[in-house]
Amino acid sequence: MQRHKLLTPRRLLTALLLCIALLALAERLKPVAHLYAAPTAQNPIPCRPDLTSPTGLPALQSPAIFTDPCVSPNPQSPISDPQSPAPNPQSPVVIRIPFTDETALRPLTGNLDVWEVNRQTGEVVALVYPAQERWLQLLGYAWIVDAEMTATLARPAARNAEQTSGIPGYACYRTVGETFASLSQLAADKPEIAQWIDIGDSYDKVTPGEPAGSDIHALVLTNQNSRVTEKGKFVLVAAIHAREYATAELAARFAEKLVAGYGVDPDITWLLDYNEIHIVPQANPDGRGWAEQGYSWRKNTDRPATCASSPSNAPYSFGVDLNRNSTFLWGTCGEGCSSSDPCSVIYRGSSPGSEPEVQAIQAYMRSVFADQRGPNYTDAAPLDTNGVFISLHSYGNLVIYSWDHTGSDAPNMEQLRRLGRKFGYHNRYSVCNTSNCLYAVDGSTTDFAYGEFGVATYTFEVGTSFFQSCSYFESFIVQQNLDSLLYAAKAARRPYQVAAGPDTLAVALSASQVDVGQPITLTATANDTRYFANGYGVEPSQNVAVARYTIDKPSWETSTTHLLSPTDGTFNATSEGVRGLIDTAGWCPGQHTLFIESQDAAGNWGPPSAAFVKINGESGLELELEQMPASADVISGETFTHTLTLTNTGTLPACFTLVIRSSQWPATVTDATVSLQPDSTVSLPVTVNIPLTASIGMTNVTVVDISTLQPPLVRTATLQTVVTKEPTSEPGGTPAPIFFPWIRNE
Ligand SMILES: [Zn+2]
Repeated sequence: MQRHKLLTPRRLLTALLLCIALLALAERLKPVAHLYAAPTAQNPIPCRPDLTSPTGLPALQSPAIFTDPCVSPNPQSPISDPQSPAPNPQSPVVIRIPFTDETALRPLTGNLDVWEVNRQTGEVVALVYPAQERWLQLLGYAWIVDAEMTATLARPAARNAEQTSGIPGYACYRTVGETFASLSQLAADKPEIAQWIDIGDSYDKVTPGEPAGSDIHALVLTNQNSRVTEKGKFVLVAAIHAREYATAELAARFAEKLVAGYGVDPDITWLLDYNEIHIVPQANPDGRGWAEQGYSWRKNTDRPATCASSPSNAPYSFGVDLNRNSTFLWGTCGEGCSSSDPCSVIYRGSSPGSEPEVQAIQAYMRSVFADQRGPNYTDAAPLDTNGVFISLHSYGNLVIYSWDHTGSDAPNMEQLRRLGRKFGYHNRYSVCNTSNCLYAVDGSTTDFAYGEFGVATYTFEVGTSFFQSCSYFESFIVQQNLDSLLYAAKAARRPYQVAAGPDTLAVALSASQVDVGQPITLTATANDTRYFANGYGVEPSQNVAVARYTIDKPSWETSTTHLLSPTDGTFNATSEGVRGLIDTAGWCPGQHTLFIESQDAAGNWGPPSAAFVKINGESGLELELEQMPASADVISGETFTHTLTLTNTGTLPACFTLVIRSSQWPATVTDATVSLQPDSTVSLPVTVNIPLTASIGMTNVTVVDISTLQPPLVRTATLQTVVTKEPTSEPGGTPAPIFFPWIRNE
């Protein structure tokens, strides 16, 4: 490592003299000069290289030159001098800069491509070009070059000889095209649980004269047919920053794990039955195109007229930082949070939400999340808020919760931090907010999600570098973060509540397939201690107080619960073994799901874990349909009721679910899930609401699908409702309700 000494007086004097001609032009520096910690009486005026181009890089089209106004003042803007001779660009280096306080930090985060901020050791790691080194020097910063990290910059990203797919040199990371191809194929293969949808366009796609660009896609994972009163909402966005290779692949792996596990893994199965998981794997496809060529590309590819820096100067080139462009409190938190300089790595764009990628993601979030937070900045979202949002970034091994734009606590800070510590348990990352472990930013996607909707929002900074090696990715990123993301899915419906409760783990059954009536022993562990913040505080735990299970529905969908006992006889510890004997008498043949959950002494329920139980045999089911009497009137503006009659003709209990579809008028069936013992019959009303506007002769077709669990069959009942009479129009009179008897059609 090369160590730079502080300035000698002679060098300082020379530099100051060279700068002086440009200082008159440095209008924009004046208001921020007082923020700089380093300048002293001996060095009162920072000479920023950005007098011609705020990042110190030439405002020239390729090939690039590096104009350093502090060394060779050039009052003519390079933008207007595109014919300048083009010397070879000087190479950037990665440096480590000690800082003492927030005042010293902010100019660094505001002007440099900051890779790391280590607040414990007081050190920033940044990528700088020579002009920026001189700027640092003039400001009085000291630094050392990290030779090892610098060497990785120069390494060409060559395609391995055996590599047939993926980013050159990084075979484990799918390209944008490959990501889209494989995830759209998942949806094509499993349409009942996966949908591939177009949520908007990239900058290039909507801008004439630019390359073709790309759609932005979301993969929606949920059981399309599950009847659930309220699905949990989890939105996962990756690769907003193009060069953060690992993030898109992690999102794709998560999608694949969920799809592969559906129907096989009981936990994944309930997660897709009771949640919607929305994955935007490539949020910045244009920028990613540059990053896949090996450029350290962070932003999108928007080309503001005022930054004509070459792509080879990336990340100090054109583009808008999509994680500074969101509309919530855009550009409000001061220097270092975002930049108005179009060549800056953290350029916030010309206006809030100016970028098509940000518009697409924000509109999509609005379509998924309900606004659950009040209108005031200090309003907390309710504790039963539904929704988790995670934006995957790299790097730093951090789980960051909102607020991003201030060190002050978000109104839901305690709950946000607690769920963050659950994620930390799995990925072992530091759990903190930007102001205490990184640096404050504004216009972030996560502050938008929390600010607008009140949902639980996090930035994961995965791994240890942007162009993370595949070996590190596979060994230290994938599994750890998949476990965190699975927990996020488990918590999605009530993130602020369930994270306080114990996890229910190690669920085991004495038998997973039995004849009806045969008992099963269930054992599990309830654990209230699974939090980790890596030095950022300790979450309190409570003793486990209750454990229970429900059958075929989670506890929030059924009132029938069954208690489990502590294995050692007493609930008196933060982690307890629990057990119970399950009576399967009267259960229907087929596969059932047990939901096992536990509660701590403070009254917090954790999320359930699931197990499958299969009951042998098959049930019979005969379907009969009640006809309405031929003389009954069907009157517009009223409700008409059909009756479905179902008989179990088999020797085993039958379970079935009803799914109703109606051609034009609203129709409902009273009980969506029915269990029927052998030789018994049930009559189910099917009601159709006929609008007042329906005239005589108009017809509605209602279809009821009746699905039995075992054998897995769907039978269909079709009910026609034909209007026979219009309502009486006597003044003040309402037509008398017409009742007619249920008549079995046998
Ligand atoms: Zn990022």
